[in-house]
This record gives sequence, C-alpha cells and structure tokens, in this order.
Amino acid sequence: MNVTKAEMIITAGNKSQFPEHDLPEIVFAGKSNVGKSSLINTLVNRKALARTSSQPGKTQTINFYKVQDQFMFVDLPGYGYAKVSKTEREKWGKLIDGYLQDRQELQKVILLIDIRHEVGANDKMMYEWISHYHKGVIVVATKMDKIKRSQVQKHLSMIKKGLGLTQADSLIGFSAETKQGKEELWEIIEKNQLE
Ligand code: GDP
Repeated sequence: MNVTKAEMIITAGNKSQFPEHDLPEIVFAGKSNVGKSSLINTLVNRKALARTSSQPGKTQTINFYKVQDQFMFVDLPGYGYAKVSKTEREKWGKLIDGYLQDRQELQKVILLIDIRHEVGANDKMMYEWISHYHKGVIVVATKMDKIKRSQVQKHLSMIKKGLGLTQADSLIGFSAETKQGKEELWEIIEKNQLE
C-alpha cells in the first residue's frame, strides 16, 4: 500500500478514551527502543507521525493513527525499560490488557523483536499474552540492516525458537533504514482483510 494519508486520532491513557470507529485495527507491540516508531513511520511514509522515543518506557499511552481511511494503527506502549516503577508497570499492564481483552476491532497484532538480540523474558511474555487473546501473531525482526546478510536466517530461527512461534504466526525481517520488508509487511497486513 502506498500511504498518502495518516493522522493521529488519540493518545489514550485509559480504556474510556479508546476511539469508536469501524476500521480494522493493526496493533504494534514491542520493547522500548526496538524500532516501533520507526517502523510505523516507514509504513505510512511519514517522518514523525509516531514519535521516536526520547524517554523510553515513559509513555504509558496507546496511540491510535488512522491510515489511508482504511486501517487504524494502534501503537502500544513499549516495555522492558528498567527504570519504570512497579506502579507504572502495573498501569501499563492494565492498559494493555484492557485493550487486548475485548477489542472487537482488533484484526492483527505485530510484535517487534530486535534481530540482533536474544528473545527476552519480556518478549516471550508479550507473545504469550497476545496469543492468549489473538492467534496468528505477526513477528517483525527489526533493524535487519544492523547484521550481516549471511546471519539473517540464523537470527530469524533464533527468534522463532525463542518465542516458540507456531504455524499460525508469521515472521519477517525489516529495516526502517533500507525499507527492506516494508512491502512484505503491508501484504500481510492487507491479507484476508475481509475474513
Ligand atoms: P521505539 O522506542 O520502539 O519507538 O524505537 P525507535 O523507532 O524510536 O528506534 C529506536 C532507535 O533505533 C532510534 O535511534 C532509531 O533511529 C533506531 N532504529 C530504528 N529502526 C532502525 C532500523 O531499521 N535500522 C537502524 N539501523 N536503526 C533503527
């Protein structure tokens, strides 16, 4: 998809602020600094629709972006930032669970993992949390430009194994730097839209 229109709808700090609409929602989750804002900006051909993190882990909001009047992109707050207090972490969990639990509009969930890093406990927990509510997670291995091409398959296999991905899931490599994986990801997002 060649996106020419993307707009921020709301930054929601609690469930009552989640917008009502009739578009399919595409959800983005991942550890702070994984490249989530960069990926969203790449998909929608914008430099700074989603903000790249100045204060990682500090934004406890779910951001909704309307894309090409066809999709609602839902940007979940990042996790795994060490300096977040217990209270903030609990707030984060409640907000995300409140979203995942009964969001009828939810169509696809994209979980981002840095291709260079081992799958962490937080990533695994997030994957299981998402899978509990929604089967068929799209896992995107980010920052692919940061490793040698010859290492890509090995790293993808490690992610697959680390998360315990199933046949229902998809896994693709991506780089916001080179835009590699952009078209493939759009194809997956657009697939089975009417199912
Ligand atoms: P977020 O916290 O998950 O939203 O991550 P950001 O999108 O803010 O990215 C975190 C850092 O990684 C920034 O310095 C980005 O420039 C960098 N980054 C993100 N994606 C890529 C990528 O594909 N390649 C490279 N080389 N750097 C990236």
